[in-house]
Amino acid sequence: MHLGRGEVWLSDLAFLIHGHAPGTFRPTIRRYSKLVHPEDRDRIRAVLKQAIRGDIDDVQTSEHRIVKPDGTVAWVHTETRIHRGGKGRGRTKRIFGTIQDITAHKRVEEELRASKSVSDRANQLKSEFILGMSHELRTPMNAILGFAQLLDADPDLNADQRENVQEILKAGDHLLELMNEILDLSRVESGKMELATVTVDCEVLAQECITLARPLAEPRGIRLECHVEETPRALGDSLRLKQVLVNLLSNGIKYNRPEGRVDLHVRPQGGWVHMEVSDTGYGIPAERQGELFQPFNRLDHTEVEGTGIGLVICKRLVEAMGGTISVQSEPGRGSRFCVRLPRAYPEQAAAGMAMAPEYTREPPRTQGTVLHIDDNPGNLRLMQRLAARLGEVELIGAATPSLGIDLAVAYHPDLILMDLHMPGINGFEALHTLRRMPALQDTPVVALTACASRDDIHRGREAGFDGYLTLPLNLQEVLDTVHHHLRDGSRPAKSA
Ligand code: ADP
Repeated sequence: MHLGRGEVWLSDLAFLIHGHAPGTFRPTIRRYSKLVHPEDRDRIRAVLKQAIRGDIDDVQTSEHRIVKPDGTVAWVHTETRIHRGGKGRGRTKRIFGTIQDITAHKRVEEELRASKSVSDRANQLKSEFILGMSHELRTPMNAILGFAQLLDADPDLNADQRENVQEILKAGDHLLELMNEILDLSRVESGKMELATVTVDCEVLAQECITLARPLAEPRGIRLECHVEETPRALGDSLRLKQVLVNLLSNGIKYNRPEGRVDLHVRPQGGWVHMEVSDTGYGIPAERQGELFQPFNRLDHTEVEGTGIGLVICKRLVEAMGGTISVQSEPGRGSRFCVRLPRAYPEQAAAGMAMAPEYTREPPRTQGTVLHIDDNPGNLRLMQRLAARLGEVELIGAATPSLGIDLAVAYHPDLILMDLHMPGINGFEALHTLRRMPALQDTPVVALTACASRDDIHRGREAGFDGYLTLPLNLQEVLDTVHHHLRDGSRPAKSA
């Protein structure tokens, strides 16, 4: 392209790319730029002008559309080199270039983009469905597990009846674990699980994991030991890292031989912290190790209790924390799962070392009035039965939030247990109404809800609830919560 004379020379292939037989017209700059798609023309002209003025680099690449004589649109990639000559610095005289038809490439790109957006949408619908399903299942699960817990505590059951109830509880617990794990997996896969990046003291964390896994190891006679070198610190989310290590430890215990051993080794290595769980168990043949991280794949060990989802969640969580998880195993000798997380150095140690305060168990003192606001009759009945175990606690049930607020005004309860999702005003609005009443603004209000994710719990706490109990209810936790709020001195407003 000669700028001074406005002339353009095209190769035979360039003519063909533009849809013309070679040499069938004499191209000029004006005519050549008319071949560019009208929507891209200004952009290409601007680039050309800048190149001529010398504002941009000498070699220019561009992707734009051209229109062929039959009206079809094609994508081209051009690479041009500016030849500066003539008088005055920076003067541009000629532009040499190559042109390539990239229409097929662009079409594939477009198809990929479209299929990604369809799969993103499908994934989003899947996680919304899972969330909805988990929410809906929690209320009936609450009745099954709640009444079974009550029955189990009945001293008059005979041996057969107790065994039957315990089967219900075992299956219910398994179903609950399955629901929680599916929910976790869906949240981590859809990127909805928020992970904090804090400095984790791996020694403290490793000891906590061992403590959590010990009750599983002891009945099987498995020796569980922790070995920490140099007290390393890692960068990650301590709650989720604990979830990963406890999962690996419990697998090491579950898929072990009686009287076997499980060791947790923690040590720094270069810029990483290695956390290794090794066991003396069944081991996994090399050709099946790839199946370990597939959801619901139990690798034929259905005789051992499990869901087949734990390791998939572990892998996703570790990767989301910027780490890796790997496995080495030998059938009949055991397995070694290694989690590697980025190491935190002292200057990063300031962040997030605070630990949540321990839940303090007070000796129960069982006097007072509890108001339970819930639109589900099964939940109200379960709580009434439970109240029988609360000593001198008077339990008042309200099936609607407005009745609940009226009863709160009339009875000034010591504690309010409030369902969050009720028709009319929801639990958040009801809490807001109570907090605006001087006589009730200090009354502890604990949320009872099927919304069980960490985000939901956080939202509940932020809204001002004094506690958050999720369905299906753990009755011991309900009793502890009631005792905690009804104990002496816990109510500054009322005791005044
Ligand atoms: P779950 O233990 O609930 O089945 P996981 O996802 O944690 O689910 O594990 C998937 C499967 O991998 C297990 O069912 C088991 O067959 C196998 N597995 C996991 N850990 C070990 C281990 N330490 N030793 C032998 N097999 C294991």
